[in-house]
Amino acid sequence: GALRGSVAQFAQPRGANLMRRAEALDSWCRLRARHGVWQYARALDGAPGPESNVHEECVPGSATRGVNFASQDYLSLASHPAVHEAARAALAEAGPHSAGSAVLLGNSRLSLALEAALGELLQLDHVTLFPTGWGAAFGAITALVHARDYVLVDQLAHASLRQGANAATRNVVLHRHLDTGHVRELLAAIRARDTENAILVVTEGLFSMDADMPDLPLMQYLCREYNAALLVDVAHDLGALGPGGTGSLGLQAMLGKADLVMGAFSKTFASNGGFVASASRAVKRQLQLFAGPHLFSNALSPIQAACVLEALRIVAGSEGDELRDALLRNATVLRANLAETGMRCIGVPSAIVPLWIGNEQVARLAGRTLAREGVFVNAVEYPGVPLGAARLRLQVMAAHRPEQLRQGARMIGAAVSGAGAALGVEPARQPWPRE
Ligand code: PMP
Repeated sequence: GALRGSVAQFAQPRGANLMRRAEALDSWCRLRARHGVWQYARALDGAPGPESNVHEECVPGSATRGVNFASQDYLSLASHPAVHEAARAALAEAGPHSAGSAVLLGNSRLSLALEAALGELLQLDHVTLFPTGWGAAFGAITALVHARDYVLVDQLAHASLRQGANAATRNVVLHRHLDTGHVRELLAAIRARDTENAILVVTEGLFSMDADMPDLPLMQYLCREYNAALLVDVAHDLGALGPGGTGSLGLQAMLGKADLVMGAFSKTFASNGGFVASASRAVKRQLQLFAGPHLFSNALSPIQAACVLEALRIVAGSEGDELRDALLRNATVLRANLAETGMRCIGVPSAIVPLWIGNEQVARLAGRTLAREGVFVNAVEYPGVPLGAARLRLQVMAAHRPEQLRQGARMIGAAVSGAGAALGVEPARQPWPRE
């Protein structure tokens, strides 16, 4: 029972009593908790790192120490002494919180310096900060897109982007994953009937659950051809990939060329928060005064801004190059080790190593086995990914050691095979259909 079903079936509970109608979901979650397949039961005990202590709520008092492939500290900057020192200095200089939204004296010397530093890295002069990456995505789209406009979104884009699009307009069209031919077709169809309203095309630099990349120059070219604008979410690639940490944009010679770039500080930059960057001062004004999560939420704290600033300094220097080399080497080794066990990874080498499973029950059971054995991975299922497209999403860090990768891969291979055998399900070899 705990392994069957999906959260999808509880998405729209019926009944007039709003408080009571969530109870069916609660029963299902309690059942899952009793059987160790309830994600919220797990919590980090201590800092995220290649080896972490994870506390299991359903086994009181127990913290298991093990290899951590479930945190997003890609360059291992969360434990960098210079980042810690920057946090302490910011606390001494500016105190622990921003005490206002950016429009109400919430900016600090540090947040303004961060806007400038990010602008320089991206070669886009106008940067607006947000308290989370989610807020940056949702805020950018809702501030810029009107009800009569269109948003074309990759079908596998992050929820923050799709939810922003759906909140802004009913004219949201999903395009097939990475399929520029489909993007062209849809743009042409919209422009054939409407030249009055705007179109925003939304994609990711590195897809967070699939670890693959779109053809950004072609996407931007198509946008110019059809009078549309392009927004690229670089949450998972900025800092961690590309020359000088410039991510997918740098890898594809697109620095300073994409219309709108948004990202998050929550992965590589050892903090929390997000940003939107463009070459347009006018767009920045529109965001400052119409993006809800920027305007109506208190600004990044000075400590967050200082951590990101220090992380940016490391990312852009030679130490960043070394850390990115280590990260990419680790990702390649982990993929090779998993392949040796017969497992199927999708995407390109990057911090994200998605191990395709398909069947949700197999992913849940394998995730549970691994957590008990001291290998922490995220079993991702709907709504994080489409139904029937479950996976173990591993995230690799620069500081993982070869032995951790080798042993982790061996245990992951055994857990997936074991879960498949126990459930009588052949682990899927076919990734998400691309048609
Ligand atoms: N975009 C992508 C692609 C993401 O994966 C995430 C979630 N981590 C976000 C945006 C939101 O970022 P944050 O966690 O900083 O709110």
